Amino acid sequence: MFSVYCTAVAAEVLLGPTNIEAVLSSGGELAMEYRCSCGERGLWKRGAGRFHDERAIAS
Ligand SMILES: [Zn+2]
Repeated sequence: MFSVYCTAVAAEVLLGPTNIEAVLSSGGELAMEYRCSCGERGLWKRGAGRFHDERAIAS
């Protein structure tokens, strides 16, 4: 499970495996394309979140 800050609903939402559309990894970095439960798509990155205000809670 991971959480993202969804700008569409302006709240932190908890997402699970069914929300993950793709897992990308390169050079030791992990990123996931997800679809929020509201339908908004985004990119989650472990480490610095450049795209939104996203951050992971636990693995
Ligand atoms: Zn959302």
